Amino acid sequence: MSAIKLAIVGVGKIVHDQHLPAIAANPDFALLASASRNNTIDGLPGFKTIEEMLAAAPEIEAVSLCMPPQYRYAAAHAALTAGKHVFLEKPPGATLSEVADLEALAASKGLTLFTSWHSRYAPAVQPAKAYLAAHAPTAMHVIWKEDVRHWHPNQDWIWQAGGLGVFDPGINALSIVTEILPSQVFLTSASLEFPENRDAPIAAELHFQDAGALRVLAEFDWRQTGKQSWDIIVDTADGQVKLSDGGARLWIAGEEQPLDKEAEYPSLYRRFAALVKAGRSDVDVAPLRHVADAFMLGRRKVVEAFHD
Ligand code: NAP
Repeated sequence: MSAIKLAIVGVGKIVHDQHLPAIAANPDFALLASASRNNTIDGLPGFKTIEEMLAAAPEIEAVSLCMPPQYRYAAAHAALTAGKHVFLEKPPGATLSEVADLEALAASKGLTLFTSWHSRYAPAVQPAKAYLAAHAPTAMHVIWKEDVRHWHPNQDWIWQAGGLGVFDPGINALSIVTEILPSQVFLTSASLEFPENRDAPIAAELHFQDAGALRVLAEFDWRQTGKQSWDIIVDTADGQVKLSDGGARLWIAGEEQPLDKEAEYPSLYRRFAALVKAGRSDVDVAPLRHVADAFMLGRRKVVEAFHD
């Protein structure tokens, strides 16, 4: 099979940091063009809108949609309607229902829809999952605390409704939680802290349980300066499992485990190519569902205004 003719829509930070190097290193893809209101990719034809791009370059077979989540549905709908396979950056959309609509559209057209969750491809995730499948977890503590001014400077969309606020990084933790736990958990209570001048939370505390005795506490905070924390600590009867640095490092019963090198985006593009070749989709909204539940069940606390 020849390389999949790909285009990128919404050229910004993550495209430059991760998508471009991962695509360049993967012979299954040939990057043909981009569509973005203000930005282009060096050496490639750039269009202002996806509609303009698909009309001018009908040979495009697949698109990666990397704009903020509030604008993903319209682009995904246009791409699927035009017969293109679709890679959705995380989170896959602004609502669960719009992703369900895209899933049905992709299925009706025999196209691939891929809800990508890059953190699930962190090197600690599959070894942790295998350990927890054999050693039942009794408690889990998720600590995802980072400095929003460092990681998201000038990103207004992230503070607007649908931008998810602190759940933008927090959903990465939830994507790992939902991958490694052997049982399904659900939210039992939550509190969300909203800056008085913003429509999205700056901090959240979430409590989950499963049908049995497992309890999960997740703490997300965007006000962390100094050392950043992206840790998941799981108690089992046979020792503690600790994933740190977002899943780049793993300890089991106090012993650091040897892991593969981090390759989240190369892994995502290998998965996307395999799905396209197999004529399949991979649509998993479990992390987004937990976030939606938090907005539905969480107590709202107004905290001091946030200024960049
Ligand atoms: P970004 O740089 O702020 O936005 C990406 C691009 O989307 C922008 O450069 C902009 O390009 C376009 N865009 C912005 N607002 C838009 C709007 N209102 N309508 C249409 N297009 C708009 O964001 P990012 O950090 O790359 O994140 C994009 C997505 O990737 C998010 O869902 C995020 O969660 C995910 N992600 C980000 C990271 C990260 O480290 N930053 C990591 C993993 C995943 P134009 O102005 O040219 O249209």
